[in-house]
Amino acid sequence: MYKSKTCGELTARDVGKTVTLAGWVHRRRDHGGLIFIDLRDRFGLTQVVFNPQTAPDAHRVGSDVRNEYVIQVTGVVEKRPAGQENHALATGEIDVHVTAAQILNAARVPPFVINKNEDVDDALRLTYRYLDLRRERMLKNLTLRHRVVKFMRDWLDARGFIEIETPILTKSTPEGARDYLVPSRVHPGKFYALPQSPQQFKQLLMVAGYERYFQIARCMRDEDLRADRQPEFTQLDLEMAFVEQDDVLNLVEELFTALVKQVAPERTMQTPWRKFTYDEVLDKYGSDKPDLRFGMELTNVSDIAANSQFAVFKNALAAGGQVKGICVPGCADYSRRETDELIEIAKAKGAKGAVTMALRADGIHSPASKHLTPEEQNAYVERLGGQVGDLLLFVADQPKVVGDALGALRKELGARLKLADPNALAFAWVVDFPMFEWNAEEARWDAAHHPFTSPKPSDMHLLDTDPGAVRANSYDMVCNGYELASGSIRIHSRELQAKIFSLLNIDEERQRARFGHMLEAFEFGAPPHGGMAPGIDRFVAILASEDNIRDVIAFPKNQWAQDLMMHAPSDVDADQLQLLHLQIVHPESQAQYGLDKP
Ligand code: ASP
Repeated sequence: MYKSKTCGELTARDVGKTVTLAGWVHRRRDHGGLIFIDLRDRFGLTQVVFNPQTAPDAHRVGSDVRNEYVIQVTGVVEKRPAGQENHALATGEIDVHVTAAQILNAARVPPFVINKNEDVDDALRLTYRYLDLRRERMLKNLTLRHRVVKFMRDWLDARGFIEIETPILTKSTPEGARDYLVPSRVHPGKFYALPQSPQQFKQLLMVAGYERYFQIARCMRDEDLRADRQPEFTQLDLEMAFVEQDDVLNLVEELFTALVKQVAPERTMQTPWRKFTYDEVLDKYGSDKPDLRFGMELTNVSDIAANSQFAVFKNALAAGGQVKGICVPGCADYSRRETDELIEIAKAKGAKGAVTMALRADGIHSPASKHLTPEEQNAYVERLGGQVGDLLLFVADQPKVVGDALGALRKELGARLKLADPNALAFAWVVDFPMFEWNAEEARWDAAHHPFTSPKPSDMHLLDTDPGAVRANSYDMVCNGYELASGSIRIHSRELQAKIFSLLNIDEERQRARFGHMLEAFEFGAPPHGGMAPGIDRFVAILASEDNIRDVIAFPKNQWAQDLMMHAPSDVDADQLQLLHLQIVHPESQAQYGLDKP
């Protein structure tokens, strides 16, 4: 063994012991006689002292090493002199007086500082990820992630769930993204798809009688590139048989509540979680994943505006629209430039503008004042609960535009005014999503969740007459403005599944080719079943107070889906392509994405 103790465990109780430690030179201070090194391993830091008088050979090693060298030292644990303890460090009461030392490996000067949590260029961090992972921040995040996953496994195991791996080389399951495809060598011209989720497998496991399944599952989705998306990400994939919606929700709520208590006891959380219907949440927050750590709810004032002479309000209502407002605390003194900026946010969401009313000590200031009677203005103020010092913002348009615009303003202002308590975890359920979304481009219905989701029994009769009004047995878990999970009660009848496929414009032939196995499985005694899949990356990022999920993934891709350390994706040899029966037809199209160089 290279070490008898880790760098994180020696305390005053060990004084007098001879120990051997091994690790990285975290920090080195040469006092022109004594040399002090903070020696680091995964478990912590220990100060080791090299004395030229008592151990000249070891001292020479201490002089030669630099940051990030890997060394081994043997020495005696001593209590630090009074006043020199470091209470921030678990090992801060002691140091190790080195009697023998050796360099196990030298290190080049790292491209960024490892012993401080300084901001480092993202590309550099990803290129030298193995060095970035040495930093305390990343070690903490990955350790937290481990704790989260371990808790999930143990908790579910104790409740009769079993973890089952499902294939990576498989066939497409639609989750709303493009598939990553893998060409088959043995079947020329045929492809596997990497799973966008184990959705079909977990349902087939229910048909197989496993009743309670989970998996820490990797999902691969070739989505449009966005700063905070990863081509592969991890879900806690769950499925249960003989359950109804509330059974799944209760189980997951219990799991996450216990999980937070255990791994992040300092975080505050309201229990039981709040529950909204999809319609409610859009109405109140203009978003299906609102940050519930602060209020600023969207308030409907259409009834007041119904008598207004103000053309903006009148016209919107006449066109079947609505008027809603939000009350922004403490922003009555916003300058013209600042309110214009807010109006731009509303416009970016399709609104024609936004009407402001600043509640100042000397009265209400609004560009619309001359069109609004004092009674009308007071009625708005009262409805929104405005106080002197607040800024009211109104949007008048079709409900979707009003929601989008005010939802975006609420989000922006919540962040700007720091209204959300960073310590709080505001979990909530959103239920009763619509079953279908109209795809205007292709003039057809898409599944709002995925095509295996069951409609609400009470809405079944609308399937033929008004698909847009059908609600699904589907649900989302949201937290602090993120959608952390989606799930649903599934279809388990062949006829209904075929009907839903048909409504989604998947004709019988394609149903057979793509999903024949599912339809067939439902003929062999499929139990009622349902489940969900909380995203692990985002949840850990929230717990770790990281904005970007990259910071809780050991080896993530950058925002152009590249692995800068491994240089993936990369060119392959011509003979590999040939073996796979592939030919690159348009090498120049790479340049179109500006992605040809790593
Ligand atoms: N497969 C779904 C998803 O990835 C989750 C589920 O329905 O369980 O969103």
